[in-house]
Amino acid sequence: MSREITQSVALVTGSARGIGKAIAQRLAQDGHDIALNDIAANADQLEATAEEIRATGRRVTTVIADVSVEADVNAMVAKVAQDLGELNVMVSNAGIARVTSLLETSVDEWDQVMGVNLRGTFLCYKAAAEQMIRQGKGGKIIGAASIVAFRPFALLSTYSASKWGVRGLTQGAAMEFAKHKITVNAYCPGIVGTAMWELIDEKLAKEEGMEKGEALKKYSEAILMGRVSVPEDVAKLASYLASPDSDYMTGQCVLIDGGIQFS
Ligand code: NAD
Repeated sequence: MSREITQSVALVTGSARGIGKAIAQRLAQDGHDIALNDIAANADQLEATAEEIRATGRRVTTVIADVSVEADVNAMVAKVAQDLGELNVMVSNAGIARVTSLLETSVDEWDQVMGVNLRGTFLCYKAAAEQMIRQGKGGKIIGAASIVAFRPFALLSTYSASKWGVRGLTQGAAMEFAKHKITVNAYCPGIVGTAMWELIDEKLAKEEGMEKGEALKKYSEAILMGRVSVPEDVAKLASYLASPDSDYMTGQCVLIDGGIQFS
């Protein structure tokens, strides 16, 4: 079921693959025109995603940008407004994970994870809000937090701290932007079968002396709904958060994890 959106432009960062791609596809299906973003290393996948969405009849633009770099983020938002007319929905989805014991985490690794996940979200929220305030029509800002923003996973302390930060940022931004009719919410997935979890499984299995695939199996035992999440589960929530149906919701970080953690 689509949400029948009219005249809306949605930007999804980190949308060449995984959850970001599923969100972009779902928002296109709902009727938003779509701006896709990823880093240069994923340019081919990004163009392939753009072609898939274009084929459905929606207007699509792509922007290569690193969300941890302020100039990139500002140029990205300006290009989206130039190519598609305005920006009405910002989905700050791009993120990276590093599986390392806190004792072995270097300052560089800490900065890398915080740079993409937390500074990147801050920069995207800020640039999107500036654009939306200029337009004067309100808007929807959506962040990617995680189950680890409620209960961290061991060996993912830095990642967990970054997502806990996204939760705080989302609440603060909601308080500041409400007067501009901009809502700010975040989705908090649990265990989604994407490239990110392939990496987490591989590293966790190595750290805990297990075979590949066993860490995912072990952590998945806690899922009440009895299956690992797929990106489309998260896209359905993002669809709601991007639509007028969620106009009375702001500052919320919504768990979508099949019932691992209760808020
Ligand atoms: P993924 O690794 O499959 O995709 C992430 C995308 O972001 C990639 O295409 C990557 O190239 C892009 N990206 C990375 N750094 C970037 C940067 N600096 N600038 C722009 N793009 C960048 O990951 P995913 O599983 O699809 O995760 C998407 C989001 O959801 C992330 O923020 C992640 O932390 C969050 N999340 C994922 C899970 C999960 O189980 N997979 C759970 C909770 C939260």
